[in-house]
Amino acid sequence: MKHEKYSAESRAISGGHDPSSAYNSIKPPIYQTSTFKFNTAEEGKAFFMNASGDIPLEERNASLIYTRLNHPNAITAEYRLAQLDGAEDAAFFESGMAAISTTILSFCQAGDLIVMSSPLYGGTDTFIKKHAVQMGIEWAEMERGATQKEVEQLLANHPKRDKLKMIYLETPANPTLTLVDIEMVRKLRDRLAPNAVIAVDNTYMGPLFQQPLAHGADINLYSATKYIGGHSDIIAGAASGSEKLMKLVKQKRAILGNTASPFTSWLLSRSMETIGLRMEKQARNAHKLAEYLAAHPKVKATYYLGLMPESDPQYALFKRQNNSGGAMIAFEVHGGEAEAFRFLNALELAHLAISLGSTETLVSHPYTMSSSNMDEADRLKNGITPSLIRVSVGIENIDDLVKDFDQALRTT
Ligand SMILES: *Cc1c(COP(=O)(O)O)cnc(C)c1O
Repeated sequence: MKHEKYSAESRAISGGHDPSSAYNSIKPPIYQTSTFKFNTAEEGKAFFMNASGDIPLEERNASLIYTRLNHPNAITAEYRLAQLDGAEDAAFFESGMAAISTTILSFCQAGDLIVMSSPLYGGTDTFIKKHAVQMGIEWAEMERGATQKEVEQLLANHPKRDKLKMIYLETPANPTLTLVDIEMVRKLRDRLAPNAVIAVDNTYMGPLFQQPLAHGADINLYSATKYIGGHSDIIAGAASGSEKLMKLVKQKRAILGNTASPFTSWLLSRSMETIGLRMEKQARNAHKLAEYLAAHPKVKATYYLGLMPESDPQYALFKRQNNSGGAMIAFEVHGGEAEAFRFLNALELAHLAISLGSTETLVSHPYTMSSSNMDEADRLKNGITPSLIRVSVGIENIDDLVKDFDQALRTT
């Protein structure tokens, strides 16, 4: 492709679409078709022989069969995400959970073991502990903030170490932003469990503020519903990594049948054109809002990576692994659920809703909402208290956001 000499940032704007293939349209059309015509029976035969993804990336456009397997809008979106992630290939799905479950099932079978960080996104936690186990896949958990020694002991001493097929990490973890050191896990994996694939849920910082592949991960996973989609108007998911691993993931995706549709993929490729602008403004706003919250007498504690003090034991890791504080804040008000609810009910500009990474500011109460299915003890152990509020900061005018939070905090 003639774009190769330009940076990933530029290639993610218009790459992956060739105007001459579509009446010189600057934007890709939506290829709303379920199937593709073969010019000859011999061509159909050849396409089927290559259907498993053996076709070189640049030739995929010319060898399309059926939209569940692949389609032009997926090719455009996947090219752009691969650029942003520094990956060889990417795959889009109809939800983040589809990306996560399909990737786990691509590498783990009955009798295999997954080791995961904690806490995990609620849906992932439920998939591994309640659904993957029904298929005979076992799991073991690293404690929140586990040290290198603790992770080493968990991997070295596990009776099923030779069956360890996946190390699943989520960093920063939702909602309290605890970090996991990907490089540290990579070194232990190479020494103790070389057959395990390291997958990192990069939803909270990616694709721009954290590049797990550069730190030793094998696969990035996303809820593309969040920053990648960025407008709270689609549910989607993604995986990215080497061509070899993505081939396995795409084979599983074709059979489970959860490939992102042409329209979802089209929205995603449109969204990736503005992802840099959106994420940078969101992070700038978040930094200012976090500073305001940290200084407010009605706020008991503020959790924002961009305000982590140098004395914090995770500071060096944060500086090495992330290049921004991101747009996610959590904070505790004085009091409990009643005070938190008064604040939430008084907001005027920010919306009371789960999800994150969108243009509008979203505020929620993890204890009774996104984390309510966790045991009480687990919630408290992970810092999810009744007074904790989670904020995904949008791109509104920051003075307006502060004004809104200020009037709502007065009610607590
Ligand atoms: C939202 C989310 C998911 C699940 O994604 P869906 O698109 O809702 O299926 C997974 N991981 C994290 C960290 C999330 O925030």
